[in-house]
This record gives sequence, C-alpha cells and structure tokens, in this order.
Amino acid sequence: MQNIDLHNHSRVSDGLLEPSALIELAVSNRVTAFALTDHDDLEGLDEAAQTARRLGLEFINGVEVSVTWRQHTLHILGLNIDPTHAGLREGLAGIREGRMERAEKIAHELAQAGIPGALEGALRFAHNPRIVARPHFARYIVEQGLARDVSSVFRRFLVKGKVGYVQHQWAPLQSAVDWILAAGGIPVLAHPGRYTMGSTTMNELLDEFVRVGGRGIEVVTCNHTREQVEYFADQAVRRQLLASRGSDYHGPGESRLQPGQLPPLPPQCMPVWHAWGNPLTH
Ligand code: AMP
Ligand code: MN
Ligand code: MN
Ligand code: MN
Repeated sequence: MQNIDLHNHSRVSDGLLEPSALIELAVSNRVTAFALTDHDDLEGLDEAAQTARRLGLEFINGVEVSVTWRQHTLHILGLNIDPTHAGLREGLAGIREGRMERAEKIAHELAQAGIPGALEGALRFAHNPRIVARPHFARYIVEQGLARDVSSVFRRFLVKGKVGYVQHQWAPLQSAVDWILAAGGIPVLAHPGRYTMGSTTMNELLDEFVRVGGRGIEVVTCNHTREQVEYFADQAVRRQLLASRGSDYHGPGESRLQPGQLPPLPPQCMPVWHAWGNPLTH
C-alpha cells in the first residue's frame, strides 16, 4: 500500500524536527513517498534527501511559498522542484528578507501589549535565522508562561484582528507560480479549506490560479473536513487540476496528525505524483 505525504516542515522553517529526524519518523510511519516543504527556504532538502536515500524512502524536493493575493495570505506548494534553480532561489530569498522586517514589527506590537523581548525570544526558537515565523513567537510566549499552547497564542495574539498580527506583503501569486514552474516543479494550492473566503472568492482564486499556471490543489490535508475534501476533490476534477495529499506536519505536540496519517485521496482525483512519473508511486 502506498502512503504518500507531500507537505511537511522541518526546523529549517517552523517545524520542530531536523530534516533527518523527520525522514526517520516518516519511515517509521510507513510513508512510501515524502516531500519536505519548508516555508520559503530550501536549506533542509539535501539532508532530508540523503537520509531518505539511506533509508530507502522516495523523496520529493518541495517548498511552501508565501503569497499575497488580494488581501489574503495563501500558501503555494512547489512539488518536485529543482532546488538548485537560480530563479526560484532568488524569489525565495526576496520573501525571506521581508520576514525579518515583519518579525521586528510583530515584536514591537507584542511589546506594546506587555510582552517584551519577543524578537530575541522568537529567534531563539528559530533554528534558521532566515525564517522567523509566527510559530516561533508562539513558542516563546508559551515558554514565558503567558499561554497554554501554541494554538491558544495564535487565537489570542497572532491572527488577523489581534494585537500581534502584522499585515504583510508576500510574493505575488503569479511570481510564485512562475518560480516553481521555472524550477521544473508543480504549483499546488496548499490547504484551500483554511482560507477565510466565501465560495465566490474561492472560485475566482481557483480561476486565477489555473490561468497563471497553477497545476494542483491539496485535497487531503490535516485540517480539511470530509466535506472540504469532497468539495476540493470536485473542484480539482472539474478544473482538471492534480490532487495532492499532505499532513502539513510541524512536529510532536503541535500537529494532530503525524506524517502519513491521512485519509486517501478520493478515487475520482488525479494524484499529483502521477505527474512526475516515478513508477514506484503509481
Ligand atoms: P508565518 O508564515 O510566519 O505567517 O506563519 C505561518 C505559520 O503559522 C503556518 O505555516 C502555521 O504553521 C502556523 N499557523 C498559522 N495559523 C495558525 C493557527 N491558528 N494555529 C496554529 N498555528 C498556526
Ligand atoms: Mn507552518
Ligand atoms: Mn501553509
Ligand atoms: Mn505548511
């Protein structure tokens, strides 16, 4: 039985495990093909690929690109990319620069709300100083005893409408898709069920995603309900988009599901892994 998981984070971005530990976990969970998809950075791919090769796990190079579309933050997975591609690497470097500026603003907001030292605190949790992400702030706030867990920090401080939320301009959708395609990868709209938009806007997003060169939708992912899986499977079939499956695993204690612990893709879907044609995953 194949068990393919194409969305996972290491501590190169906001995950908790190092790339090799993530691969070991995937193997012990009987994952048969695995993509590392850190946010806006490719630094973990070599280590993950080496460990995967050693343990006989099929490995797919991936990335999760932060995008601003209208007023929404979207995540676009680039699957089966060439991690040496200069255009992709430059695009991601640009996104990373913006991250540090945003982190300074978040820390400023939190200080005003009575939480000092948040930039230094978040940086202590960020193994890769190029990627300071909201979960690093959340871990610092939990460590300070100011919240019970990471998800309650998000609810209280880090989401739109709360004190520590800073509006930020990520990459344009067209650029993210272009970089991924140029690097030989497949652009996949990550966790579409998580975006807070009505069905009209979602339809406009999917129209535009297809128009700019998007190729797939993440149909099965950790926080999709059964209804959302059916809805996005239907959208994928209608729009002839490939379907992906990924846990969006971030680490022990922070993710409900471990790598590979997901329902299968609905049978009407065309799996994205068919597009890179490795006979092992057919
Ligand atoms: P950033 O890219 O720095 O804005 O951080 C986004 C990351 O924060 C996502 O990739 C998730 O890992 C995490 N995240 C976003 N919203 C939540 C939430 N409500 N609860 C827990 N983690 C979240
Ligand atoms: Mn994340
Ligand atoms: Mn995401
Ligand atoms: Mn993710």
